[in-house]
Amino acid sequence: MFSYRHAFHAGNHADVLKHTTLIALMKYLTQKDTALTVIDTHAGAGLYRLDGDYTETSGEALDGVFRLFAEHKVPPAPKKHAQAATQSMASQKAGPAKAPGSEALAPALQDYIDLLRSLNPQFAESGDPAHLKIYPGSPFIEQQFLSGRDRLKLFELHPTDFKSLTGNIEQLGVGRQVSVAREDGFEVLKTFLPPPARRAMVLCDPSYEIKTDYARVAACMADAVKRFATGTYVVWYPIIPRPEAHDLPRKLKTLATKAGRSWLNATLTVKSSKLTTDPDGEVKRPGLPASGMFVINPPHTLKADLQAVLPQLVARLGQDRNAGFTLDHGG
Ligand code: SAM
Repeated sequence: MFSYRHAFHAGNHADVLKHTTLIALMKYLTQKDTALTVIDTHAGAGLYRLDGDYTETSGEALDGVFRLFAEHKVPPAPKKHAQAATQSMASQKAGPAKAPGSEALAPALQDYIDLLRSLNPQFAESGDPAHLKIYPGSPFIEQQFLSGRDRLKLFELHPTDFKSLTGNIEQLGVGRQVSVAREDGFEVLKTFLPPPARRAMVLCDPSYEIKTDYARVAACMADAVKRFATGTYVVWYPIIPRPEAHDLPRKLKTLATKAGRSWLNATLTVKSSKLTTDPDGEVKRPGLPASGMFVINPPHTLKADLQAVLPQLVARLGQDRNAGFTLDHGG
């Protein structure tokens, strides 16, 4: 059985990239009048505690979401955010964009911070990151944007995370709008394509714990595009020194191009991928240095959204001179 638990990684720099991109996508895709089906093939637990055993043990959120608030770059929310705990993100306007001594926040980053505030009222009131205790996973982010006609389908294989996800979604009280199943997300995707209203966004965010995940992502996306060419397909991938990881965005680009579909590839690097040696001569691995989001059929607004967000993420999350971003597109 799998040993990967997203709770160890919740709120890390890869989540910040993934979730700000997801917010930009959901915000645009839910503006239309036609129903949207959102399929999250690897959903995780839905909500995470940033002060829980897992996150505290790994400390990854310290180099991710908490770093956004270093040096008080982001001011406390005005009262309306503190009161917005149950308000839908779709109806929230971006809050005050200016922070003392810093530039205006990009809308997707502002929306991400507003969502954190809505889930953490004490944090919203005080602006003190010590009160940032709840972190939303992709299912909660997606659900925040849905209206009555939209549907969210969540798949999670790990028994413990499936149970947590089911409980977390039940608490929302949204009934049939969101379904949760303990099934293989790669396998099950084809049964939902094409969706009834012919509008869909798919997030494919595996743990890549098993090497074959890379090939499964590419095969699953190729099959999905054949079944439903106009869907928006979103893949998160790690950038690590492993041939399969380097090949994945190339394969996705090739399949999108062959299918005549547009694509966008955004990457965020926060530090060097080189091994280091500590003063005791012990060789240290750097941990995840970079990750990417590959989107097939991106909305026309996504490039500008990410062009605004990515430099701000580099400025806030970058740890050394290797920090940077790329933003490519085609089709
Ligand atoms: N998408 C989540 C988020 O952004 O909050 C994080 C997902 S985490 C990176 C990957 C999840 O996929 C893990 O919870 C793991 O248990 C689950 N998983 C692994 N293989 C799976 C499969 N074949 N089908 C569905 N879930 C799977």
